[in-house]
Amino acid sequence: MDLGLKNKVALVLASSKGLGKSVALDLAKEGAKVVICSRNTTELEQAKQDIERQTSSSVLAITCDLLDTNQRADLVKQVEEQLGTIDLLVTNIGGPKAGGFESHDAEDWKHLFNAIFLSVVDIITLVIPKMKAQGFGRILTITSISSKQPVDNLISSNAMRAALLGLVKSISNEYAPFGITVNNILPGFTTTERLKDLMEQSPNQKQAIDTIPMKRFGRPEEFSAVATFLLSERASYVTGVSIPVDGGWIKGI
Ligand code: NAD
Repeated sequence: MDLGLKNKVALVLASSKGLGKSVALDLAKEGAKVVICSRNTTELEQAKQDIERQTSSSVLAITCDLLDTNQRADLVKQVEEQLGTIDLLVTNIGGPKAGGFESHDAEDWKHLFNAIFLSVVDIITLVIPKMKAQGFGRILTITSISSKQPVDNLISSNAMRAALLGLVKSISNEYAPFGITVNNILPGFTTTERLKDLMEQSPNQKQAIDTIPMKRFGRPEEFSAVATFLLSERASYVTGVSIPVDGGWIKGI
């Protein structure tokens, strides 16, 4: 299937490793003009080289701390100046801290609101006018299974990601007439550094695997295959949905 991604300008946030990097790699394989970003310039440069080695595409790498409003604005400006209008936006950021209600204070909640919710609102605000003007756009927010079913000991993710689902559903309705689709993708337990960190804090990795009907963790490429389809021309009639890639972990129908 031709996904129609060739030469599309794709900004993938928080993409020096893990799920973001895997999405960037798949998009580059499809011939998109991919932009990756993260805070750590060395890791970012390694990711750029890694993706370029595996594809025939060249990747633009921009160092950016997504927690910073000015850096977010500068990121979008640089992409537009160097590659033109952003066709595909994938929002992502490092995962929130683990813990229950009493391990979070007011400062934590403010930080998490900025990281998980406001940063996404802000970047979408920056890219959407040009998508609207050109009559095409794909916005995909990487959230979590926690937005549909709370994960034990991850209260900040459980609370904040659900808000993103409401945001995405609402803006998908507003921008559908302009050829822009807006969807959520919900990773389940997937083998990245984030999962390794969480498992180090968790008493028993086998217990986590036992909760997954497929009885194994997912692989980043299983996640990015679904993301890439949702970002493609072929997914033109899919908007406002929240798709889990979780080996069946979410129990609801
Ligand atoms: P990861 O730790 O492997 O990668 C995170 C990426 O984000 C890195 O490239 C890092 O440099 C970048 N990053 C972090 N903070 C940043 C910032 N302020 N500015 C710019 N870049 C920043 O994590 P991952 O497993 O790929 O997870 C990605 C997202 O998906 C996280 O929000 C995580 O909570 C969520 N998620 C992951 C899983 C999983 O099992 N892997 C499950 C559910 C949800």
